[in-house]
Amino acid sequence: MKRLPLPLIALLSTVCTDAAFAADDPLTRPVPADKLWTTPHEPQHIYGDTYYVGSAGLSSVLIRTDEGLILIDGTLPQWAPQIEANIAKLGFKLKDIKYVLNSHAHSDHAGGIAAIVRDSGAVAIASPSGAKALRDGHVVADDPQASDTEMASFPAVARVREIADGEVVRLGKAAVTAHFTPGHTPGSTTWTWTSCEGAKCLNIVYSDSISAFASDGFRFQADATHGDLTALFRKSIQTVANLPCDILISTHPDASGTDERLAKLAKKREPNPMIDAGACRRFAAKYDKMLDERIAKENAAKAK
Ligand SMILES: [Zn+2]
Repeated sequence: MKRLPLPLIALLSTVCTDAAFAADDPLTRPVPADKLWTTPHEPQHIYGDTYYVGSAGLSSVLIRTDEGLILIDGTLPQWAPQIEANIAKLGFKLKDIKYVLNSHAHSDHAGGIAAIVRDSGAVAIASPSGAKALRDGHVVADDPQASDTEMASFPAVARVREIADGEVVRLGKAAVTAHFTPGHTPGSTTWTWTSCEGAKCLNIVYSDSISAFASDGFRFQADATHGDLTALFRKSIQTVANLPCDILISTHPDASGTDERLAKLAKKREPNPMIDAGACRRFAAKYDKMLDERIAKENAAKAK
């Protein structure tokens, strides 16, 4: 597999501070602390017309149709060339990508989209809040991680289309539905579709992050700048729990056991280890608990 010159990036990152990187020059960006995010991962056929093309720690999924390709998420700005190499390695043409869907507009999922849209001619699709962030190359002001420099900015995307909650992206026989799942970001979107092998069609869920991560000082409960966000967040977590879900792929594969299922899939396909009917419910329960813990922390901070 062709690799990015990571030592070069590491070298450059030592001379660039967070504030100093040029937003449109990914190679001048610091390498994120989580090494898994920039660990190469062999592209994999998941099921039917669905493929994994992300890194070991950041998901990117490709859906093949007779009319072209749909990609979900671009991972980091530095990683776009690797996503493109993974797509080519599967035998697909970059120019056949028609749409690039986004889960949420943080650098680790939206960062590579600008380059992939530029190189393929595709259009990016996101929720209205997500679309604004993609166009701006910066998170929206009410993003819980707005003051996290590493997550907050990324190369701005040239062609972006907005989608409504419940709307379907159609290409060939593929129909990918947007489910708004705000919380981790205001524009967070979970995507679902079905993929078939012969007569057997499975429900695939690409769940957005439902983790209550936030910059220091941010509150999910009401404060001077916004009302209560916890009820909306709980509803999003419930949405993910209740989706028809045969195969779950989460934005961070290690957040939901997607990484373990992909590793098993690399060894054997039958029965397909990606199929796990309880995965969405377990994933939701895990992050419902994290939201509880976050709220307890906010209350403790307020009581001081
Ligand atoms: Zn995020």
